[in-house]
Amino acid sequence: MRQTAVPLSLPQGAGLIERAFTRLLLRMVQVTRVEAPQPDFRFITLQGESLEHCDWLPGDKVQIKLDGGLQTRTYTPFEFDPLSGRMRIVGYCHGPGPGAEWVRSARPGEAKAVFGPRGSLNLQNLASCTVLFGDETSFGLAAALRRDEPGLHCVFEVVSPTQSRAILQALGLEHARVIERRADDSHLDEAIDAMRRSAEIRTSFVLTGRAPAIQRVGRALKADGTAANQLRSKPYWALGRKGLD
Ligand SMILES: Cc1cc2nc3c(=O)[nH]c(=O)nc-3n(C[C@H](O)[C@H](O)[C@H](O)COP(=O)(O)OP(=O)(O)OC[C@H]3O[C@@H](n4cnc5c(N)ncnc54)[C@H](O)[C@@H]3O)c2cc1C
Repeated sequence: MRQTAVPLSLPQGAGLIERAFTRLLLRMVQVTRVEAPQPDFRFITLQGESLEHCDWLPGDKVQIKLDGGLQTRTYTPFEFDPLSGRMRIVGYCHGPGPGAEWVRSARPGEAKAVFGPRGSLNLQNLASCTVLFGDETSFGLAAALRRDEPGLHCVFEVVSPTQSRAILQALGLEHARVIERRADDSHLDEAIDAMRRSAEIRTSFVLTGRAPAIQRVGRALKADGTAANQLRSKPYWALGRKGLD
């Protein structure tokens, strides 16, 4: 691992294990820019020598260490420049949760320790038509994939269509289908219909975001005859579960 220019900023009470974990496994970076284009979203730029010359593929994840302990939360860089050691993430402030609180309060100059970037979903060899289902937590993945996959179609279930459309537009994903999430999940029928309409004979389906939504969409696609090798899925969060990676 390359030496980093950013000083380690471990909390005063950090124990031996936390210090060893941070020094040995994590890369030190600095928050260099925070944009708040919508109340519940932040574009956060992180930069550090430790990221220079790193390998990165669209869909890779980074685990960001939160202050005070060994907890991390997982995000998806949507831009990665190995020459300058700079990456950008879209953070969604969903409500209470240490990750969402960090996203909401992130400030330029703050030092962070990150694990990764490293592989998450295998997105190699997607079909020329790819349909991505997800939610606010999948916007970064969609923006990263869009560069290599011009035939990408996106369908998102979201809490606020107004905020989400503005963010998607800023990410160059203005053609994405945005569907408001309903508590009884009845909106998922609309999402599944939209995905079917976007599909061609050979289509890859990428399912990310809320675990029960992925399960339901996956079941519907399999019932349509979609083969297992056309489906790639990865839950990003689930009600009551913390810090999925
Ligand atoms: C591979 C991967 C990539 C990811 N990429 C991104 C990304 O680029 N941007 C991003 O914003 N998130 C991303 N996520 C999701 C993010 O890591 C989770 O939302 C995470 O739980 C947030 O941490 P937290 O501390 O706020 O909440 P946690 O402490 O982890 O969870 C507390 C509770 O909050 C609720 N919760 C968690 N997430 C959500 C949500 N999105 N909406 C509603 N309720 C929620 C759940 O009920 C959970 O039990 C990714 C996750 C994975 C696994």
